[in-house]
Amino acid sequence: MAAPGTPPPSAPETAGADSGGGSGEHRQLPELIRLKRNGGHLSEADIRNFVHALMDGRAQDTQIGAMLMAIRLQGMDLEETSVLTQALAESGQQLEWPKAWHQQLVDKHSTGGVGDKVSLVLAPALAACGCKVPMISGRSLGHTGGTLDKLESIPGFSVTQSPEQMLQILEEVGCCIVGQSEKLVPADGILYAARDVTATVDSVPLITASILSKKAVEGLSTLVVDVKFGGAAVFPDQEKARELAKMLVRVGMGLGLQVAAALTAMDNPLGRSVGHTLEVEEALLCLDGAGPPDLRDLVIRLGGAILWLSGQAETQDQGAARVAAALDDGSALHRFQLMLSAQGVDPGLARALCSGSPTQRRQLLPHARKQEELLAPADGIVECVRALPLACVLHELGAGRSRAGQPIRPGVGAELLVDVGQWLSRGTPWLRVHLDGPALSSQQRRTLLGALVLSDRAPFKAPSPFAELVLPPTTPQP
Ligand code: URA
Repeated sequence: MAAPGTPPPSAPETAGADSGGGSGEHRQLPELIRLKRNGGHLSEADIRNFVHALMDGRAQDTQIGAMLMAIRLQGMDLEETSVLTQALAESGQQLEWPKAWHQQLVDKHSTGGVGDKVSLVLAPALAACGCKVPMISGRSLGHTGGTLDKLESIPGFSVTQSPEQMLQILEEVGCCIVGQSEKLVPADGILYAARDVTATVDSVPLITASILSKKAVEGLSTLVVDVKFGGAAVFPDQEKARELAKMLVRVGMGLGLQVAAALTAMDNPLGRSVGHTLEVEEALLCLDGAGPPDLRDLVIRLGGAILWLSGQAETQDQGAARVAAALDDGSALHRFQLMLSAQGVDPGLARALCSGSPTQRRQLLPHARKQEELLAPADGIVECVRALPLACVLHELGAGRSRAGQPIRPGVGAELLVDVGQWLSRGTPWLRVHLDGPALSSQQRRTLLGALVLSDRAPFKAPSPFAELVLPPTTPQP
C-alpha cells in the first residue's frame, strides 16, 4: 500500500525562539550561516532547524543562498551530510510498498551530464526485467540536463504523481518517473532550485543530500548512482568524483540503503543529441534496440549492476544481458509507452511515439523554429566534442534556467553529426543546432567551434564511458 506515510515534520517547538541562541534554544539563521561560513560544525538540531526554516517560510531566499554558499565553500562531514539527507527526506512523505516487492525495488540516479537520457531508457528496461522503479528525478541543474524537463517536453506528461498514483503505476507498469513535490521531499525542491541559480551545485554534501533524500523516501533495496567525471561533469576530476561516490555509498549505508556508484566519463555528450525533445527522440531509438553505442552501453552496464546488486542476476554480465534483451525484444519500449499513458500522455500519442519512425516522432514532439549547421574548419580525426561549451551555448539559447522556475525551451538543442574517433573532412557539417531565437551570434559560433577537437592520429573506436563501480564495503567483489 502506498502509505500516506509520515506527515511533514512540524516546526520545532521553539521555532519562534529563532531569536534565541543560547544552549537548548534554536540559533538564529544568521548565526547558523556564520558558524558554517567560519568552518564550524552544524549540530543535528542546527541542520533540522535550517530545514524547518525552509519549510515554514522563515528562511529568506538570501539566507538560503548564503547557507548554501557557506556549505559549498566549507563542506560538511559525514555526520552533517547524513543529518541533512535525513532531514530533507523527512520534509515530506515516506513511500511504502507491498512487502513482497522489497527486493525488486531499485533505482538509478545521475549526478548530471550533457545528453544524459539514460533514466528514460533504463527505468522501463528494468521494469521489463521485473523490477519496480519508483524514480524521483530532478530538473536541469546548472549546465546539466534534467530528466523531468526532458519528459515534460512530451505533451501531457505529468511529473506530479501522488503516492497512491505511484503505487498504481508501479503495479500496472513497473516504473514511474516523478518529481519532488509538496508531498515528496519538498525541502530538496527548495534547495535544488536555489542551488541552480547560486553557483552551489558542485558540492559533495549538497549533491549527496539532494540525491539520497529523494531515494531514501522511495523505500528501495538498491540504488546505483551514475557519478560523472570529466570536462562537462559537475566534478571534472575523477578523484573528486570518487570522493562523491564514496560519500554517497557511506551515507546510503547509514540510511539502510544499498548504494553503489558508477564513475562514468562525461567529456563528450552522451549519445548524439543534447536538448529536451531531441533527447527523448534518442531515448526512443535506444528503446528500439538501436541508437548510439555509448548510450546503449551505459544503460546496459548500469542496469546489469542494479540487477546483480539487488540479487536479481548472478553476475553483472548476466544482468546486462537481460537489460540488452529488454531493449532488443521491444519489452522496454512497451513499458515506456505504458508509463507515458499512465503519467498523462494521450494513449494515442504514446502509441504513435513508440511505434513511429524517427521522422514521424519528430513531427509529434515540439521542436525549435530553425536549425543551423556548423562546418568542420579543417580535416582531422574527431578526438573529442567538448560537452561543456556546447551545453553552455544551449543554456544561453534557452535550454536551461538562469532564474528559479524560469520556463525552458524544450526544442532547443543540438545533434552531433559525427562520432568520436571518425575522420572528418574540412567543410563537412559536424553539428546541427536547433534554436528558436535569432541566428547564433559570432561568439556562440566561436564557442561551438572550440568544442570540436580534431587530431591527426588514426581513426579509433570511442571507449565506453563506464570507468569503475564503487561498491559498499560488504559487497562481494564481482
Ligand atoms: N541530482 C540531484 O537530484 N541532485 C543533485 O544535486 C545532482 C543531481
